[in-house]
Amino acid sequence: MDDEHALLIDCGLFQGAETSPEGRAGAGKLAIDFSLDGIKALVATHVHIDHVGRIPYLLAAGFKGPILCSEPSAKLLPIVLEDAFKLGFSRDQKQVERYLKLIEQRIVALPYKQWFTLIDTPRLKARIRLQRAGHILGSAYVEVDLHYPERGEKKRIVFSGDLGAPHAPILPAPKAPYKADILVIESTYGDRLHEDRRSRRARLEKVLEHALSNQGTVLIPAFSIGRTQELLYELEDIIHRRALKESAKTQPGASKSKISKASALDWASLPIILDSPLASRFTAVYRELDQFWDAEAKSRLAKGRNPLVFRNLLTVDSHQVHLAMVNRLTQTARPAIVIAGNGMCSSGRIVNYLKAMLGDTRHDVLFVGYQAEGTSGRQIQRFGPRSGYVELDGQRYDIRAQVHTIGGYSAHADQAGLMRFITGMRKWPNEIRIVHGEDQAKSRLALVVRRSYGEEVQALNIIIPA
Ligand SMILES: [Zn+2]
Repeated sequence: MDDEHALLIDCGLFQGAETSPEGRAGAGKLAIDFSLDGIKALVATHVHIDHVGRIPYLLAAGFKGPILCSEPSAKLLPIVLEDAFKLGFSRDQKQVERYLKLIEQRIVALPYKQWFTLIDTPRLKARIRLQRAGHILGSAYVEVDLHYPERGEKKRIVFSGDLGAPHAPILPAPKAPYKADILVIESTYGDRLHEDRRSRRARLEKVLEHALSNQGTVLIPAFSIGRTQELLYELEDIIHRRALKESAKTQPGASKSKISKASALDWASLPIILDSPLASRFTAVYRELDQFWDAEAKSRLAKGRNPLVFRNLLTVDSHQVHLAMVNRLTQTARPAIVIAGNGMCSSGRIVNYLKAMLGDTRHDVLFVGYQAEGTSGRQIQRFGPRSGYVELDGQRYDIRAQVHTIGGYSAHADQAGLMRFITGMRKWPNEIRIVHGEDQAKSRLALVVRRSYGEEVQALNIIIPA
């Protein structure tokens, strides 16, 4: 902000591939490699690990300032950091508790849409405001107002954080800021357009129907925050609509319809198994904070439905129950849907399911998220359809299960969404820094931005930091 004051926006773990939005980073890039001098505060835009994963290292390096985030993020962040601490530092319960206490003392929960003064000196006045970003629960973009009274200079910088897709389930779409002089924007899907939600949901339903028709299990590898809750929300809706259809059929006087193979599936009692203690904790917070849901989700709630705690949903907590569940589903011929982490199959409970089920044609694997190069998920995605194999924990497993991919279940805005964020502003920025994406995504976004500025004849400086 000036020579003496700096603000840090996010402090995440670097990714193996920058585009794996939520994967765990490999070791070796954990150290804080920048100076902490003058950093007055950290703003956490949202709690994905690539945005907050290095907070433990930041604290260890001596950072003394507050961690500013939205109110929902303030509830989610300790859960994320507890997990990160256990993986990276220690599982000793006393240490974990001491650490969490420290974290909770540092967190300052800011309500959305309200200015918060950071610095107020004769030379610099700085304030920040969080706005909803629609990416995951608690996600925010950050408006920073800087005022230098001596120079008579004022500017507004906007940091997008990760922006949500407009038709994502549960959360409302982000609204463009009023204005920005400088915009720092993500570009994960800067070169892509998403499939619309209705057709995606229809495809999900079709894949599930097909997959479950042969009495097997559908494995869905998913990350704990965001995608898992979106999936549960869509599954509840499919089951709800199916149940309505079934009851209409059994009404007296209803015409007798032919029972197809697909409708022989009993959706009403189809178990949906959430096998991830971490995902269950996040889902509980999503449930608790329903005031942050969008209009559609709230109206379902008002009608007595409960999109994130429905009758078919079973959560598996302990490791013992997890192993028993793997056994039971492998041995019985009862259809089920399992959601387990991690999303790229590189570790976590999903691996036990894969080992037990990949060799059996009755089962299916459904990918709903990006699979980074070098992960087991990518191998299954690539070699599964040609009866290949995958290596898990150093052992070879033949893939006889069917493999499907449904794209677009991602809580990131596509190119159109990113453009709306920029061109929806009353006053367009004259400097845009494009970050957080693969090279091609960045350059495609830059191209499209230049084109629309050209039409508006407004001066623009685009920077793609190396
Ligand atoms: Zn994110």
